[in-house]
Amino acid sequence: MIKTVNLQKKYTTDEVETTALVNVNLHVKQGEFLAIMGPSGCGKSTLLNIIGLLDNPSGGEFYFLEQEISKFSERQRANLRKEYLGFVFQSFNLIDELTVYENVELPLIYLNVGSAERKQRVEQVLEQMQIAHRRNHFPQQLSGGQQQRVAISRAVVSKPKLLLADEPTGNLDSAHGQEVMQLLSTLNEQGTTIVMVTHSPTDADYAHRIVNLFDGQIISENVKELATL
Ligand code: ADP
Ligand code: ADP
Repeated sequence: MIKTVNLQKKYTTDEVETTALVNVNLHVKQGEFLAIMGPSGCGKSTLLNIIGLLDNPSGGEFYFLEQEISKFSERQRANLRKEYLGFVFQSFNLIDELTVYENVELPLIYLNVGSAERKQRVEQVLEQMQIAHRRNHFPQQLSGGQQQRVAISRAVVSKPKLLLADEPTGNLDSAHGQEVMQLLSTLNEQGTTIVMVTHSPTDADYAHRIVNLFDGQIISENVKELATL
């Protein structure tokens, strides 16, 4: 699904150059659940942004679904994102003026899905994420765990091939964090490939494989459950 060859990322601000990624070689297979770990500033978000087609690398090759896309335009990347990717963030990023139902329906409206199918898919995902009883509430009326379940619903309602999660439990207490991780794990078992950035060893334990970044480089990998891949 994803392959990087000697991926590099440099940022230049006020003529100061920061190297965020150095020769990263990463291969993510369809069906995998990968966790990226490492200290603050090691390049995790940068890597996730490139994998998520939000940013281009400054060097190396980046393949997404067999296409070399490091030179794609913003518009081309946006089209791929809309079609294939779902995002979950630490801060939920829900639209406060829309209900739970409307937040989750939004990606399907952007994809021009007809209203009958929209209703069916939104209801199905709200049930699966155990938040259907809150469908007419607004985000601010919900607990953090509930908001994250809505955010995951919104991310997966379009049936993305790849789900990217950046510290998905970062704003949750441990019980609600574990609930969220269980739901992500179930989505992965049902076929969604997941790449997650996390500081939490408990969260990383749900992944098949952990990649450890340090100073922009992959320094080690831990593989679990190799037999199931
Ligand atoms: P992490 O997610 O592991 O905390 P980041 O990917 O955010 O790490 O950052 C990696 C390095 O790149 C850090 O040194 C950070 O300061 C730098 N960096 C990240 N984003 C930018 C940016 N937009 N402009 C300049 N430097 C950046
Ligand atoms: P959370 O799911 O984040 O723990 P909830 O308030 O949604 O918080 O759920 C707490 C429990 O109460 C759950 O078992 C849920 O099914 C139930 N519950 C919550 N709201 C309602 C409701 N409006 N009607 C019936 N049961 C509810």
